[in-house]
Amino acid sequence: MRFLNLHAPGQWLAPFLCVLALWLTPTLAGSQSPAVSLNPAVVEAGSPELIRVEASGVTKIEGEWMGRKLEFFRGHGRAEWFALAGVDVEAPTGLSILKITVEEDTAGNLVQMQIPIHPAHYRTESLSVAPGFVSPGPKALKQIASENEFKAKVFAVSAPQPLWAASFRAPVTAQPTDSFGVRRIFNGKLASIHKGMDFRAAKGTPVRAGNSGVVVLARPLYYEGNCVAIDHGLGLFTLSMHLSRIDVQEGQRVATGDRLGLSGATGRVTGPHLHWAVRWQGAYLDPAKLLRLDLSAVR
Ligand SMILES: [Zn+2]
Repeated sequence: MRFLNLHAPGQWLAPFLCVLALWLTPTLAGSQSPAVSLNPAVVEAGSPELIRVEASGVTKIEGEWMGRKLEFFRGHGRAEWFALAGVDVEAPTGLSILKITVEEDTAGNLVQMQIPIHPAHYRTESLSVAPGFVSPGPKALKQIASENEFKAKVFAVSAPQPLWAASFRAPVTAQPTDSFGVRRIFNGKLASIHKGMDFRAAKGTPVRAGNSGVVVLARPLYYEGNCVAIDHGLGLFTLSMHLSRIDVQEGQRVATGDRLGLSGATGRVTGPHLHWAVRWQGAYLDPAKLLRLDLSAVR
């Protein structure tokens, strides 16, 4: 396989001035440079990113971005490939390198792009919760440790193809809050970053699958309370927390809009609400931005 460093312009990319790219003269005569574009075009810490590669005669595409493997799938168009990826809320800002290797029938291309990661300016707030959630006792610490082990096992496995179809939908009919990425000080001590989106859902509000997938976790946990996690494939999961009731089982396939349970106030909470999180390969992404991403033409 031979490598090229190519700028990938394409009409799709033209308006996206924030995507800086390296340009090196192709050394392989006759090879078409793949066009690479990102949506949203301005990449912020915590942002989900739909990466589109346009190239014909492709047999395989691989990629890597900020230490995470990009897994591509074929789009509706014969010459387009996608990866639904993202930048962790705690990712450092500044330039990042996006590497994409395209294997074609006759040759291979390595596309390297410099993608600037912009800060997203998240707020800081102070909260009061029950003391046990800030300084858990020895019994709780043991429970938390075993739950962490279980969660690590659950999130290490994901379907080898996308299980989602079309755009993601909000999991509840309730007012969302601008709470993703907020730096939280609990009882004046513990600082944590809020890695999900809170919906003001009264106890008993039906919580639904934001997209199709497989339920990989449906059980009570110390911090999360009654929690349901759905695998949407290729490392992408959504999590619904603090439920008053769980209506699905681990291993169950769900379609968009299927009821997962009812909202509530279990786990570390200050009152009833739904905490909805989006996780991709261990990175926590802004659910509001995933909901805004139009995926209807993708698959
Ligand atoms: Zn929350």
